[in-house]
Amino acid sequence: MSQAQSLPAVCVVIGASHAGSLLAVQVRKEGWQGRIVLISAEKHMPYHRPPLSKAVLSGEKEIDAVLLRPALMYSNNDIELRLGEQVTQISRAEKSIHLASGEILAYDKLALCTGASPRHIPMGEGLAGVHYLRNADDVAGIQSQMEAGKRAVIVGGGYIGLEVAAVMSKTGLLVSVVEMADRLLQRVASPVISDYFRLLHEHHGVKILTNASVAGIRTEGAELSVLFGDASQIVADIVVIGVGVLPESGLAKAAGLEVADGIVVDAYMGTSDPDIVAAGDCTVFPSARYGRSLRLESVQNALDQARVAAANICGKPQIYDSLPWFWSDQYDVKLQSAGLRLDHEHEIVRGNPDVIDEKGISVFYLRGEHMVAADCVNNAKEFMACKKLIAERLPVNLEALADLSKGPADFAA
Ligand SMILES: Cc1cc2nc3c(=O)[nH]c(=O)nc-3n(C[C@H](O)[C@H](O)[C@H](O)COP(=O)(O)OP(=O)(O)OC[C@H]3O[C@@H](n4cnc5c(N)ncnc54)[C@H](O)[C@@H]3O)c2cc1C
Repeated sequence: MSQAQSLPAVCVVIGASHAGSLLAVQVRKEGWQGRIVLISAEKHMPYHRPPLSKAVLSGEKEIDAVLLRPALMYSNNDIELRLGEQVTQISRAEKSIHLASGEILAYDKLALCTGASPRHIPMGEGLAGVHYLRNADDVAGIQSQMEAGKRAVIVGGGYIGLEVAAVMSKTGLLVSVVEMADRLLQRVASPVISDYFRLLHEHHGVKILTNASVAGIRTEGAELSVLFGDASQIVADIVVIGVGVLPESGLAKAAGLEVADGIVVDAYMGTSDPDIVAAGDCTVFPSARYGRSLRLESVQNALDQARVAAANICGKPQIYDSLPWFWSDQYDVKLQSAGLRLDHEHEIVRGNPDVIDEKGISVFYLRGEHMVAADCVNNAKEFMACKKLIAERLPVNLEALADLSKGPADFAA
């Protein structure tokens, strides 16, 4: 036997967040006998990303309190976790990856879990006081300027912008959210939900400006000015920009893998190279459930794709077709969404969307007698019932959905 044949097989995972960290553990669970090398550009132990705009930003939790898994989990599973290491190149012909340090690592199987990065606007770049939010270091930068009484402008009224606005307003900052669309959450939520969240934020003293397109960000001393096309401006001490993310597909593209709005994978999370899989925010996948290609940005998607990709690596192919779900926490409000609001024909609102109280509301999106998606605010039981109805494609009792005297147990027909 040659020496090369006696070496253990190597599985390299690039990116150690929700997708990569779970994928590495799952590959071991699925029976991979060889080496597993998990590489992260970040220096921190892998952590939960959602709390960055919630409990970590508010200071309620330290980053070490939101780790994905204890350090021992990696060593117990014989996973070589390499932190603070950037992968700069994939050589498919040699089946190796190159690290910024100059090291070259050979792989037998490679997993790309490179996630996404904030979309940057060509304004305010590099100015002190202008921030984006994706990782633990970003939070530290924002927190260093987050003081009660300071003026904050949040550019972008999506989930992350609104979560940051909620934390800042609770901390005592004077917060304005500027959104270029005509409503908040335009890309991801229905008008009823958009209006509800506008009301919620205004209730907490946050100023919301829609149809407001930022034309520039200037600095004068320590003060920032956010400028608009109509020559108006808002003065701020801190600006946080949350205008969406772009998939991290550069490595894959440079290596000649098929890339569209993300790394193109099949239903098994395989890329156009049989030895390379991908999972998480960086992928575009064919959704049988929705009959189209999708790229999703959620923890659920990252975790479920990681499980499928790990099984694929170990020769146990499974199809990825999970029901998408998502959540957002703002003030005392928890929004939970199940399914995607695509191709629905009508919607039913449960509760009063003009009143902000602990009772919350739910909005159900329907096609005929089937629910295709639901947004539930402060209604975890309704969310769980809807998730099941949508996932199992069960017919619903339309009348019970809006009737507050009926409960989630009555939602099925
Ligand atoms: C502030 C915030 C709040 C959020 N809140 C929610 C929420 O409430 N609910 C929800 O479902 N989702 C939420 N999300 C989205 C969720 O966090 C993402 O969908 C999830 O993190 C995706 O996981 P991932 O592993 O695919 O990618 P990522 O979490 O983006 O991780 C990718 C990792 O790969 C590393 N990497 C990339 N390229 C390289 C390279 N060349 N070499 C080495 N390492 C590399 C990156 O540094 C990063 O650590 C939130 C996201 C943010 C930023």
